[in-house]
Formats: sequence, C-alpha cells, structure tokens
Amino acid sequence: MKMHDHPDINYPAYEWPEGKRCAVVFSLDLDAESPFLWASRGQDIRHLGEIEQRRFGPRQGLANVVRLFGEYGIQGSFYVPGVVAETYPQLLPFLLEHGHEIAHHGYYHERIEAIPPAQARDYLLKAQALFKAQTGRTGLGHRAPSWEMTADFLQVLEQSGVSYDSSLMGFDHPYHVGNMVEVPVQWTSDDALYFRYTNSTRDKTHPANPVAVLESWIEEFEGVRETGGLFMVTIHDWISGRGQRLRLLRKLIEHVRRDPQVWWARADEVAAWHAASANAGRFRVPAHAIQTHFESQD
Ligand SMILES: [Zn+2]
Repeated sequence: MKMHDHPDINYPAYEWPEGKRCAVVFSLDLDAESPFLWASRGQDIRHLGEIEQRRFGPRQGLANVVRLFGEYGIQGSFYVPGVVAETYPQLLPFLLEHGHEIAHHGYYHERIEAIPPAQARDYLLKAQALFKAQTGRTGLGHRAPSWEMTADFLQVLEQSGVSYDSSLMGFDHPYHVGNMVEVPVQWTSDDALYFRYTNSTRDKTHPANPVAVLESWIEEFEGVRETGGLFMVTIHDWISGRGQRLRLLRKLIEHVRRDPQVWWARADEVAAWHAASANAGRFRVPAHAIQTHFESQD
C-alpha cells in the first residue's frame, strides 16, 4: 500500500527572477482578538487579560511593524480575518497606503477543517465582499487560519477567484496543488511558537529569548539561501509589535539585507512569479493526490 498517490522524488532546483538565489517574504497574520473570540463564541467573556493583550495589535503593534518595514522599504503581506477588518475599518486602507499586500485569513479565524465545507465557503465569500466594499480589491490571496487546509477548500478558493494560497509546507518554495499556487509557510519562522504567551493553560512555557530566536531565524534563512528556497517569516500584530521583538526583526532584516542576491517580495508577487515562470510546470501536485486514505496491512 502506498502512502502517497503521486510519489515523485526528482525535482530540479527552483528558478528565481533575475538569477536570484532565494526569496524572502515578511508576512503578518493580523489576528488581533479574532481567534480568542471564535474559541469563546457563545460565552460571556468577563476576563480581560487575553483580549486586551490581543487588542494591543491593531492599536499599536501593527503601526510599529509598518513603521519598521517602512524604514527599510519592505512591502509585506498582511493576512486579515474579515471580522478584524470589519471591527477596525481603517486597517485595510492603512496597509494599502503603505504599499503592503492585503489578503484573506478566514472571517472569524475559523479553522477550515473543523466546520462544515459550506460554512467555510460562506465565510470566505463574506470576507471577499467586505474587502471589496472597503478597498475595491478582488482576486486577493489567502492564508488559512492556523495553517490548516482541506482539499475541498483548495477547490473553493480556486472557484472563488482567490489568486493563491499560503498555508501548506509541501515544498520550501512555491508549488501548485491542482491549479492553485501554494506559497509555503514554515513553523520555524513563525513568531507565535516562541513568543505567544497569554497565561492560559494552552501556553506551554514562557516567551523565548529573542536573541536565541534571532540566531535560529538567521540559521533558517542561511539554510534556505543554500537550498534556494523561500524564507517566509510570519509574525503577528499582537506578538511582534512589541519592544524586544521589533529589535529582533530589525536585526534579522539587517542580516538578510547583506546579500544582494536575495529577492525581497510580497507573497502575491512570489505567487505571480511562480505561475508565469518555468517553475509552474515542474512543481505540481495533482489535487486528487494530496488527500489520503491509508490502512496498514498488519
Ligand atoms: Zn491567524
């Protein structure tokens, strides 16, 4: 019995524009208080600790990150749940004014695999309608909340005019699942793993030392530079918009900038490059081949 319906292991090196050796994307998942409210839906929320901690994001953290990016001329990719844009209607125009990409991230930060497919689709359509009303923008990219995806929902994205998805890790550079371009993420370079701390039972340990995380992220970047992949950094408004993490980001940016052979891009630019380049035909997983039903034979 096979584990994979498309078990290729022979792939060429990825080709980046103008012979660059790798790409870097700075992305921000602008969750604010949406995951907390989704998890607490139907309940009276009397405790203010976590919700106020998260509201720091849209109030101050986001502006701090945008200011830092502006100092270095970095255009980032910002994934925004519908309810966050609805609650803070200045957000999307603010990001566009600063040259950043805006893209979808669920409506209520719902986990796609945990709700009925029709509901997941309705939330996407609701988010698209809101983004269009607030900014006139359509055909935007998408990143699944908590980076969990289903084969069905990839099809929904395609049918709904979403230009690319950024939720999976099947390659360390863009690839296709069916007709959908996937711009991969990476847990190693996600700030939440190291710094998410709300004093709840979910938190496993205290926030990490940012100096150690900087070393880890530089190691990840250097490794990706050697393999010619995509270095996708993912931060959060309420986590990385604070002092020590802003300093970490600045030091990381300074390090990456030393190599002129790095392509700095937004995720939508990376997706467009992939679709229009020779890579498009080389890294393609058939849509039917990513879902698996497996039974052992013992
Ligand atoms: Zn999120």
